[in-house]
Amino acid sequence: AKGKGGNDYAFYTEEMNSTVVEHLSLKNQLHKALEQEELVLHYQPQIDIESERIIGFEALLRWQHPSRGLIAPAQFIPLAEQTGQIVPITHWVIKTACQQHAAWRDAGHGEVRMAVNISGRSFRDPSLVEVIANAVHAAKMDAAYLELELTETFLIDNPEQTLQLLKQLKSLGVRIAIDDFGIGYSSLNYLKQFTVDGLKVDKIFVMGLPHDGSDSNIVRAIIAMGKSLQLRVTAEGVETLEQLAFLREEGCDAFQGYYFSRPIDAEASTSLLAQR
Ligand code: C2E
Ligand code: CA
Ligand code: CA
Ligand code: CA
Repeated sequence: AKGKGGNDYAFYTEEMNSTVVEHLSLKNQLHKALEQEELVLHYQPQIDIESERIIGFEALLRWQHPSRGLIAPAQFIPLAEQTGQIVPITHWVIKTACQQHAAWRDAGHGEVRMAVNISGRSFRDPSLVEVIANAVHAAKMDAAYLELELTETFLIDNPEQTLQLLKQLKSLGVRIAIDDFGIGYSSLNYLKQFTVDGLKVDKIFVMGLPHDGSDSNIVRAIIAMGKSLQLRVTAEGVETLEQLAFLREEGCDAFQGYYFSRPIDAEASTSLLAQR
């Protein structure tokens, strides 16, 4: 069965999800998912709020399971973090995303950014920088088109190591965005310390716009802070015109969300670029 809550993920009952057996079998099968080429990336457009042009795409991972259909990242990334499988999976995501960027470029649409999510154990992966450098090189891609979305927790957990890693990444020329901004730690100190290029406003705040007073205030504050630090602010989870209007009014730079497009497969992403 398909289609639940607006996503095209396979549908599971609570009961199925909660059994230990299910959990274990997914964990075992995850080992084969990479080698059997069952992982796929979908791409969600990022839109400039003023011009409404596509300025980039975020690569979002899915597991095309042979019997269960499309599995959401929330169902297997935590498992992959536990087993350490996230490390080779992240390598695959980086390589695949860079290849896709080359495909867009070869189709005449090279002027868009590719955003990739990096989380958890991958930050402590000693080969991360080299893997990124190699992927960018192999795709003959300008590194400035690659944006890494890092979560706030990572920046806080290990500031010394983080600073080193960010310096290395910056020297490759890639862009850095802070993902899910506002839901993690409230210390904003690191924004001064680390050279980041952008912030992504988490969709839990965007959801309440424009009627929820506290969500509106939080989003307004994040945008104002981002602007004062000269960071590009992208709002995620934009589903309605009302939300978009609020964000535009407040000076948000870019947005992503079902209002414009769901995440789509590689083929559809290239057609979308060709249409615009
Ligand atoms: P995220 O990075 O915050 O990605 C945004 C999520 O919001 C995506 O869910 C996207 O499909 C969903 N979304 C986009 N627009 C809307 C909207 O208008 N309304 C609503 N309700 N949702 C929207 P998805 O694809 O299920 O990914 C969930 C999370 O899994 C991501 O959250 C990210 O943390 C993680 N993830 C996805 N791909 C990767 C990956 O390649 N590597 C790593 N490490 N994590 C990944
Ligand atoms: Ca993200
Ligand atoms: Ca996010
Ligand atoms: Ca999120």
